[in-house]
Amino acid sequence: MNKETIRTKIVATLGPASDTEEILLKLFEAGVGVCRLNFSHGSLEQHLLTLQTIRRAAARFKQPIAILGDLCGPKIRLGKIENINETGGMPVKVGDELIVQRASITGQAGRVCTNYAQFIDEVNIGDRILIEDGLLRFVVTDKNFNELHATCLAGGILKTGKGVNLPNSTISIPSITDRDWQCVDWAIENDLDYLALSFVRRVDDIALLRQHLRNRVSDIHIIAKIEKAEAIKDIDAIVEASDGLMVARGDLGVEMDVAQVPIIQKDLVRRCQVAGKPVIVATQMLQSMIEQSSPTRAEVSDVANAIFDGTDAVMLSGETSVGKFPIGAVHTMAHVAKTTENYVASTHAAREPAMRLKMMQLSSAIAKGVWQMVQDLDLKLVAIWSQTGGTARIFSKARFVIPIIALSSDHRALRRMALHYGVTPQEMLPPRDMVALVLQIDAMVQKCNYAQPGDRIVIVAGASMGTPSTMNSVIIHTVGEAWHADPDQTTSASAITIDTRS
Ligand code: ATP
Ligand code: MG
Ligand code: MG
Repeated sequence: MNKETIRTKIVATLGPASDTEEILLKLFEAGVGVCRLNFSHGSLEQHLLTLQTIRRAAARFKQPIAILGDLCGPKIRLGKIENINETGGMPVKVGDELIVQRASITGQAGRVCTNYAQFIDEVNIGDRILIEDGLLRFVVTDKNFNELHATCLAGGILKTGKGVNLPNSTISIPSITDRDWQCVDWAIENDLDYLALSFVRRVDDIALLRQHLRNRVSDIHIIAKIEKAEAIKDIDAIVEASDGLMVARGDLGVEMDVAQVPIIQKDLVRRCQVAGKPVIVATQMLQSMIEQSSPTRAEVSDVANAIFDGTDAVMLSGETSVGKFPIGAVHTMAHVAKTTENYVASTHAAREPAMRLKMMQLSSAIAKGVWQMVQDLDLKLVAIWSQTGGTARIFSKARFVIPIIALSSDHRALRRMALHYGVTPQEMLPPRDMVALVLQIDAMVQKCNYAQPGDRIVIVAGASMGTPSTMNSVIIHTVGEAWHADPDQTTSASAITIDTRS
C-alpha cells in the first residue's frame, strides 16, 4: 500500500482559491476525496463550471472523487456588500450603527440587506444579530417598516453572503426554501453524490428531502448538518432518517453554548459509529491557514482529536475556498491524519466495533468477525465486494488498522465510498463465481501494489454480487497462490461460508 494513503477522508470546500483543474488535481493528490460545493455562495452557473472542472481533474487523478452539494436551508445571509478600501467588505467597529434595509441594495455606508424578505418583520428590538459564525455581534435598538437599526457589540468586516444567526428571534422561514429546491434539482441533474442540508431542525426536514429525491428516482445520499439545538433534541430520529451527519461547528457554536461543541462532536461521532453511518467534522479545523502557511498547535490537536473520536472525514471550509494556502492546508491535514492513524495502529488501542444495527445486521456481524481476525492474524488488507457501497460503509465503521479495498462495478457507489474512513474504492467487473472472484482480487492487489505474493489477505464476498454461485463468505487467501472452491484441493486458503439461504 502506498505509504501516503490516509484512512481519514478529507472534504474540501471549493471556491475561487481552488477551482482550477491544476489546483484540484494537487488537492486530490494531497488527500482530498470529497469536493464540497456550498450553494450559499456563488451561482449555479459558477457551480456548474466548478463541477465540470472537478470531473476533468478526477478523470486525470483516476480515483473516485465524491461531490457533496451543501444546501443553504433556512439560513439567513447578508446581501451583496461593496468592497470598501480593499478590506474585502464594510468595516464596522463597536458602537457603530448598522441599518438593515427591507429593500435590496448593495451594502455600503452602514447599510445592508439580507436574503430574507421578512427579516424586519420577525426580528425585534432587543434581539441579537450575529454574523459570520458569531464573529460580529449586534443588538437591535429600533425599527420601522423599511429598516431596522442595530448597534455593534463586536466589530469586524461585513462581507457579501456571510451567515446571520438570530438566537433570540422566532423565524418562519421554511426548512427547505425555493432556492434550495432549485439546487436539489440541479444536484439531481448533475449526478451529485451527497446533499448536505443546513440547519436541520427535525426529522421531517430530512423526510421532505428524501421524498423529493425518491420522486425523482435519485439515490443521492443525504447528510444532515447538525447546527441547531432543536436538531440535538430530535437526534435519534435524524440519525435514523439520514445517510450521515456533519458536525457543523460554525453555526452550532453560535446557536448553542460554544463549550458544548466538543461534547456534541463526540456524541454525534459515537452515534454514527453505532448506526453505521458516515460523519464529517467541519469548520475552523485549520482556520488560521486561510491567512498563514502553518497551522496553530490547537488546530493540529483539533484535527487529531476528531480522528481519535472516530470521525470518517475532516473538512476544510474557507481554508480551501478562499484561503491563501489551499494545497498547504490539505497537506497539513493529511500529515496530521497519517501521524495520528499510525499512532493508533502502533498502540494496538483498537476498540471493538460499536455497531448496533437494525439494518444490515449480517454485514455488521461479519465486519466484527473480520475485525477479530485482523487482531489475531497478520493480514495485509480486507477486500470486500460492495456493489452498492452499503457493506463498505458498515466495514468502515470497524476501523480496521489495515486497508479496506471495496470493490464494485457501480461508479456512483465507488464515488460515495470516498467519504468512508479506511475504504479504498476499486472498480471491478462482477466475477462469474467464487474462484473468479479470488483470482480477480489476487491479480488486482498485485497490480495496484496493495499486496505482494505471500501476503495474507481477507476476502469478503457477498450474495450481492448477483451471481448464483456466490455466497456470503469470508476467505483468508495467500496472494499469488492458487485457490479452489473445493476444500479438498485448497492449498492456501481458509474459508468461512455463511449460508444465509437457510
Ligand atoms: P456554512 O454555514 O454552510 O458552512 P459558510 O458561510 O460558513 O457557510 P463555508 O463553506 O464554510 O461557508 O466557507 C467559508 C467562506 O468561504 C464563506 O463564508 C465564503 O466567504 C467563502 N466561500 C465558500 N464557497 C465559496 C464560493 N463558491 N465562492 C466564493 N466564496 C466562497
Ligand atoms: Mg453552517
Ligand atoms: Mg462554514
